[in-house]
Amino acid sequence: MPDCLLSVDCPFFKGLIRRSPEATERMKKRFCMANPAECARLRVYKAKGRHALPYALMPDDYEQMNQILTTKAQDNYRGPSQKKTYIDLS
Ligand code: SF4
Repeated sequence: MPDCLLSVDCPFFKGLIRRSPEATERMKKRFCMANPAECARLRVYKAKGRHALPYALMPDDYEQMNQILTTKAQDNYRGPSQKKTYIDLS
């Protein structure tokens, strides 16, 4: 059972963005199931909101996360057809 508030519509958790199957499973165990607070996706969401969260940001991409967290607010979502599919839980 995932322990992250974004798991219901997270493209990484749902398998819409991924690396190798082994790496994906490792990251799900590390972030989604054990410690979402370390996930780059969740950290961007909490700090800047959904509009700032790139569709394809990987949970361990701290470099991109830091770029987003240190720049002014902008819309980083670049998902399929630019359609925002997130449900706003706030
Ligand atoms: S990848 Fe991150 S945001 Fe997505 S469900 Fe896992 S912990 Fe949550």
